[in-house]
Amino acid sequence: MLPDIEIAKGARLVDIREIAKKLRIPEEKLKLYGNHIAKVDHRYLKELNRKKGKLILVTAITPTPAGEGKTTTSIGLSMALNRIGKKSIVTLREPSLGPVFGVKGGAAGGGYSQVLPMEDINLHFTGDIHAVTTAHNLVSAVIDAHINHGNELGIDIRKIYWKRAIDMNDRALRQIVIALGGSANGYPREDGFLITAASEIMATLCLASDLADLKRRIGEIVVAQSEKKGLVRIKDLGIQGAVAALLKDAINPNLVQTIENTPAFVHGGPFANIAHGTNTLIATKMALGLADYVVTEAGFAADLGAQKFLDFVAPTGNLTIDAVVLVASIRALKYHGGVAKEDLSKENVEAVVKGMENLKVHVENLQKYGVPIVVALNRFESDTPAEIEAVLRESPVKCVINEAYAKGSEGAVELAQRVVETIETIPTNYKPLVPAELPIEEKIDIIAKQIYRAGKVIYTDTAKSKLSMLKKNGYGNYPVIIAKTQNSISDDPKKINAPKGYEFTVRDFQISAGAGFVVALAGEIMLMPGLPKVPAAVNIDIDENGEITGLF
Ligand code: ADP
Ligand code: MG
Repeated sequence: MLPDIEIAKGARLVDIREIAKKLRIPEEKLKLYGNHIAKVDHRYLKELNRKKGKLILVTAITPTPAGEGKTTTSIGLSMALNRIGKKSIVTLREPSLGPVFGVKGGAAGGGYSQVLPMEDINLHFTGDIHAVTTAHNLVSAVIDAHINHGNELGIDIRKIYWKRAIDMNDRALRQIVIALGGSANGYPREDGFLITAASEIMATLCLASDLADLKRRIGEIVVAQSEKKGLVRIKDLGIQGAVAALLKDAINPNLVQTIENTPAFVHGGPFANIAHGTNTLIATKMALGLADYVVTEAGFAADLGAQKFLDFVAPTGNLTIDAVVLVASIRALKYHGGVAKEDLSKENVEAVVKGMENLKVHVENLQKYGVPIVVALNRFESDTPAEIEAVLRESPVKCVINEAYAKGSEGAVELAQRVVETIETIPTNYKPLVPAELPIEEKIDIIAKQIYRAGKVIYTDTAKSKLSMLKKNGYGNYPVIIAKTQNSISDDPKKINAPKGYEFTVRDFQISAGAGFVVALAGEIMLMPGLPKVPAAVNIDIDENGEITGLF
């Protein structure tokens, strides 16, 4: 098969105004970025009053580090729904530049299942991520200027939680010292950078309902502790309006098209560990107001992205979930069955069957939310008939083979039919698993035991003292987002397949009061990734005509 970017170049894109017209979006609601990208005024959401579409959440089993195809499946499924005569929109996150130049590559799908123009979407796109970076760094700059000019708020310079942000994998910036060079440059202190996808501004943008709500939320963000042990918020610095002003365009959903000219919103890009891991609520809600079937992807595996969507994002946005598609790949099943990474392309039916334990845990977990589930086996070239047969046989719920990567919508017709049939015949009983009113520890207990299959939850002393600080400040019953490894359902990346009965350790807490949750940190969470020895950047090139190669 051709590389992704070559397949993308062979596609015939239609004018984005045509895509908007088919969705009946009035042209005056569009802001065009060339012929193939448009922002849709977010206020248009309030004018949409047709019957809401059905929401399909795409998630996955515990992946190998390469990713098992959630984005590719989401795009393929949405294209196939259109192919069988349904009106469907796919809503996705915007790719971060870190992974584009690192190991993973872009996040605009793959093969014959892509959103386009992929070179724009994967590079600077409409500038949303840069706007978030700048909004984030405005706060950083104002904090240090405030301290320099007399520190009226009494910010404890040893307890500044707000770091700086950049959209790049750059390990050298994880921990740094700033303001060196004398008193004219301020007070030297330790600082660090996080990748923009991990910024609370990104999470906040993705959860806000409109500009007023965004501004209010930004004001609530906690940036530091004061010398008197009070919390310092962005509103104390008086800059929530300026920060929101920098996001005036970023708040508007980006409309693009798939390789088969069906509509897609690609908007917002929060992490799925430190944050909730789905595109903006505004884009998803707009899509639900415009189409009959909306396919949305939740980041990482079902224990992370889907749990967060089902327990937090959907209640925040007042959404219901009509069906969940759980993506599995034979290489990931074999990995959980104990096969070494370098042997994943060799046939091993026994390992596939063993690794199905991981899939079964995820299915059982999702069933606790009352949502109908379809398993989609993302077919790779190396999959053998015997291995595929084993997955179909062992799957606890209906499993459909998805070949959208190699064949586009044609390869996902059966999946689309199955999803429609499921939605039409099995009414959803969706209900969050974690009751909103419970104290933080009880919420963590439910997630750790019922989803991660831990036997016991342990808190370090740091976690305990942070928790009591959070309680003192009125966050004791806040929604909880757990940040942990994506490579295991547990808090230990080495525990593959279906670990259970282990001790789950909460090491620390962080408050994201603007986004509206407390983060429980379980394990080392990478907020600033590094580049590998041979980064994807080495293979990316551009010629004198602006033709890009090597993006995937
Ligand atoms: P996720 O969203 O789960 O991280 P992606 O859909 O982005 O996964 O896919 C991860 C990578 O694997 C992408 O580079 C994609 O092009 C590739 N990929 C996905 N499905 C297939 C497949 N069936 N065969 C080969 N490569 C695939
Ligand atoms: Mg993805």
